[in-house]
Amino acid sequence: MSGEHDQLMQFIYTLRARGVTDTRTLRAMERVDRALFVRPTFADRAYEDVPLPIGAGQTISQPSVVGIMTQALDVGERDKVLEVGTGSGYQAAILSHLARRVYTVDRHRGLVADARAVFDALGITNITAFTADGSYGLPEQAPFDRIIVTAAAEDAPSPLLAQLKVGGIMVLPVGQSDHVQSLIRVIRLENGFDYEELHPVRFVPLVAGLA
Ligand code: SAH
Repeated sequence: MSGEHDQLMQFIYTLRARGVTDTRTLRAMERVDRALFVRPTFADRAYEDVPLPIGAGQTISQPSVVGIMTQALDVGERDKVLEVGTGSGYQAAILSHLARRVYTVDRHRGLVADARAVFDALGITNITAFTADGSYGLPEQAPFDRIIVTAAAEDAPSPLLAQLKVGGIMVLPVGQSDHVQSLIRVIRLENGFDYEELHPVRFVPLVAGLA
């Protein structure tokens, strides 16, 4: 019991030390057990601040990067959020505690199915997960208050920019997949976009088409 408590305290301490200071983000991250989103063989490493392998050659992101992206997204409780790159579902589960509704898409059908099963087991009802090529966004549900992309593109995909509300925020890694990429925040203005560079990161690439 106290071992688990100490592990969670250490996890939150590490997140803070690495720049995740927003209280709502930390509280949401406290509520989501990362061990449920990794393979059983890695469950004992779930609270380390490292990316870990999931299915289909993909990875669950490093918790501090999840935290930095979540806090940069500045999600409000009325917000409709799109995530491109469901992966394990960990990031979506955190967002589900901050937003009204989360749509998440991945090009790997198996990952979407596994993530859905974890959402169901946790009783999370405000996430809708689809198998789709997220570079085109989700036109049927657009526009979005917030968009987060958890795979790296060379640039912000224009369909995603087009599906962002005025005043909306998009957070994504950009750059070549085999290099260090930049995490950027894009804010949609009345007439254009404001870009801000946040943090160096390394993500798997955004790949065209279904797997
Ligand atoms: N957010 C995830 C980690 C994502 S890893 C988590 O919390 O675990 C990146 C994911 O992006 C992979 O699962 C990969 O399949 C997906 N991906 C890559 N290109 C994509 C595309 N064009 N559309 C949708 N998903 C894509």
